[in-house]
Amino acid sequence: MGLLDVCSYNSYWRGLDYFENKRVKFLKQINRDEFEADVEGTETYHVHLDIAHPRKSTCTCPHATGKSTICKHKVAVYFSVFPEEAKEAINERNRYYEELEEREK
Ligand SMILES: [Zn+2]
Repeated sequence: MGLLDVCSYNSYWRGLDYFENKRVKFLKQINRDEFEADVEGTETYHVHLDIAHPRKSTCTCPHATGKSTICKHKVAVYFSVFPEEAKEAINERNRYYEELEEREK
């Protein structure tokens, strides 16, 4: 299971937002499956991402500390590692908004 399959709807879209607003800093690859980065929000949190084992990823925010919760910070870092997937998600979201507008006409 990939990280995006196990994260909540909220974390997914807010993480995408964070990615788009370039809140992910100092992205660094540690080995084949592991990455580290800082994510700036109201405060800056440190994310350790394990692509092969998403539940082993960690984040220093209160939401994820000591838990395997996939928070928006982990999602934002994930999208930074896989910008192609972010592009797809952004397209999907824009299509959704366009449809909403169409319906309102
Ligand atoms: Zn977090």
